[in-house]
Amino acid sequence: MDIGFIGLGNMGAPMATNLAAAGHNITGFDIVASPLDGIDMAASAAAAAKDRDIVITMLPDGAILQAVAAEILPVMRAGSCFIDCSTVDVAATMAVSAAADAAKILCLDAPVSGGVGGASAGTLTFMVGGSDAGFARAAPLFDIMGQRHIHCGSNGAGQAAKICNNMILGVTMIASCEAIALADKLGLDRQKLFDVVSTSSGYSWSMNAYCPAPGVGPPSPADNDYKPGFSAALMLKDLCLATDAAKTVGANAATADLATKIYRDFAASQDPQNIDFSAILKTMTTP
Ligand code: NAD
Repeated sequence: MDIGFIGLGNMGAPMATNLAAAGHNITGFDIVASPLDGIDMAASAAAAAKDRDIVITMLPDGAILQAVAAEILPVMRAGSCFIDCSTVDVAATMAVSAAADAAKILCLDAPVSGGVGGASAGTLTFMVGGSDAGFARAAPLFDIMGQRHIHCGSNGAGQAAKICNNMILGVTMIASCEAIALADKLGLDRQKLFDVVSTSSGYSWSMNAYCPAPGVGPPSPADNDYKPGFSAALMLKDLCLATDAAKTVGANAATADLATKIYRDFAASQDPQNIDFSAILKTMTTP
């Protein structure tokens, strides 16, 4: 297929490269241009999107997504498909999908889980909102870029799933770190704590797969001086999206509100783009 790919950063570049390696014709655009193997670079977002079968975006936030959508939707072909893989607020997603509908363009919100490692390895999970027809059109591409794709519902449902998931992630990471800090103070060995928790009712992805304590559990950013991984800045962004959404719809998010405050304080004390979110452990313990 002829695919336009806009936003070739840490996530977008390896996703686009995997699509090109699978034999698709990729035309890319990013405001910070750097050449990528197998990808033709366009001079603008509109040039990358014009006359393509599919356009994929992987952008920092909802305001940028809306600006890019305003530029590309008028030049996209009716019947083509626009897949936004960025993590953005539900309101931005809904505005973009309404504009796409009006232009007779199939539109999906398809945020991802799996990080830069998953983007490179082609093992992302896609959480997808949009029509059955759009989902069927995009599924072969999700198969190349990822391992799983889940059709969560109509437009907005993908973003809703993403922020609910990452709300759990932020809260469970803090809970796991607090448990490690408590174990330290109680004189319980961290490895023993891991052996118990990872096979007992306290288990979570934060503890089992991404243990915030160095030298414990499978390799994680803690074993690499907390280089991200998933940065504290992105964790704070996603917690803010979740707690803002909770306020908008009147959902209870008391622990997520607290997690947001904890990550906001942490981000203010660090270089949040360049430290993993699991380094929050360092604020609670002296290893
Ligand atoms: P990034 O900052 O590395 O990449 C974003 C890219 O968009 C940059 O290269 C930037 O130059 C480009 N860009 C900004 N404005 C643009 C415009 N107007 N036109 C074209 N390009 C533009 O960020 P990332 O880590 O690749 O994340 C992208 C999205 O994926 C975010 O929404 C993020 O929340 C989400 N996400 C990231 C991760 C992760 O681990 N990094 C995991 C899951 C989801």
